[in-house]
Amino acid sequence: MIIVIDGPAGAGKSSTAKAVAQRTGLHLLDTGAFYRMAALLFIREEYDLSRLLKRLEEAELHATISGDQLHFTVNGEDVTALIRSTEVSAQVSKVAANAEVREQVNQRLRPITRKGDFIAEGRDLGTVVFPEADLKFWMTANLEERARRRAAEMGEGSDLKTIRANILERDRIDSQRDTAPLGRADDAIDIDTSILSFDEQVEFILSHYRQLQTKLKP
Ligand code: C5P
Repeated sequence: MIIVIDGPAGAGKSSTAKAVAQRTGLHLLDTGAFYRMAALLFIREEYDLSRLLKRLEEAELHATISGDQLHFTVNGEDVTALIRSTEVSAQVSKVAANAEVREQVNQRLRPITRKGDFIAEGRDLGTVVFPEADLKFWMTANLEERARRRAAEMGEGSDLKTIRANILERDRIDSQRDTAPLGRADDAIDIDTSILSFDEQVEFILSHYRQLQTKLKP
């Protein structure tokens, strides 16, 4: 089984997917983290795209879960905190717009989901990566709400104006790129998280999940 949630930055995809995973036993796949790991390598390769592509081909990118925390490693180095930095956030959409980078990431994502039942979140999952997904959600929220949530997530010292500008810029690049732009699949179910509480949005997905389980039962 695979359930996907797509939508713009800060709509609540990660936290919702995590809560659904905890309640259902589905494995969690944060696809944005793979683009963030690529962006970290891009910075380390001195913003040179051809060097990044070479490094990426050989790189081991892993997601592991310990307790209820996801950890990400690049060639064995734990980069969980590093990939959330402002610098990585500023570069990631540029890196993710590259078709070869996307191919490299997708080559890693597809085999992971063959190993079990997953809830995955990203930008192009329902449209491009997992068009056969059992359930597709399109999650949005208004800009102010998204910026406010991201700031709360990043904690004290985060600057709302910078975060809002980063979200807008990422949405622009993600929606306008030629390869697999951010987009709603025709068969996706809409969730506007500006008008729902966190528990309501989790429960909404859970109710669809339960219906699916009933349908799949022999
Ligand atoms: O989800 P998160 O905000 O961590 O994603 C970081 C960036 O990775 C997005 O802004 C987007 O540029 C890229 N991304 C993507 N396709 C996905 C997931 C993320 O292009 N499936």
